[in-house]
Amino acid sequence: MSNQLSEEKLNKLLLALSPLAKHIATGNMPDQDALKQVLLSVDAEREEGALEELELWSKILQQAPTVSNDDEKAAIIAKLQGRGVPDAPAILAVDAAIPPPLIVQPQNIDFGCLKPEEGANATLKVRGKLVKATVRNNRLKVTLLDLGSGNSLVKVQLLGGSAGESLQDNVVLRGERGELRVPVTVQWEKEPPMLQYCPRCKRKSLFWNRYDKKFECLNSDCKVEGSSLDKLAKPQDRHYHRLY
Ligand SMILES: [Zn+2]
Repeated sequence: MSNQLSEEKLNKLLLALSPLAKHIATGNMPDQDALKQVLLSVDAEREEGALEELELWSKILQQAPTVSNDDEKAAIIAKLQGRGVPDAPAILAVDAAIPPPLIVQPQNIDFGCLKPEEGANATLKVRGKLVKATVRNNRLKVTLLDLGSGNSLVKVQLLGGSAGESLQDNVVLRGERGELRVPVTVQWEKEPPMLQYCPRCKRKSLFWNRYDKKFECLNSDCKVEGSSLDKLAKPQDRHYHRLY
């Protein structure tokens, strides 16, 4: 152990303890430049031995984010006390260096009822140090985007499913302290019956073309078509009618 600072220098450096702890809680371990910035912010950058002492405090506090019980926490507090840091600032600093548990918005994803083969996207905003995001179902893909300062975005991409299929899964967010589960639900519409009554000509002549995903009335006097029952129209009514 290197020599301890004089009481006067120590008191000045104590101002740097809280910003140092907050920096560590973001999951970004401070390098020399970051430590110099902390010293600068409390006007202690010219104090002899200050940087070396702060480096020691930093090494001690870097054990805080992974504590799993009170004994481990007490051991870290004791190490700071061993460097001359008084009880109260030592306890506060160790608490501040422990990252907060994860907070996620929204807390569940309901994609509702989609058309067959249709996909969808959602974004989770996560606060707290996120280590990993996983899903089980292979129709789901997650991408993690670290925004820094303990904020992340998790992009959730849903690939298209087949008619009548449904899916229930969780996006599992693993933080440095515990994990969170965000339930994901979706279902895909059932395929319409192959032949049903046409709302225009009232005959049972409306054919569902499952390859082109559209309804087509087979009655030659009617011939309406469209992607859904409320969008049926004669092809010649349309601007994009193709000429053969
Ligand atoms: Zn018809």
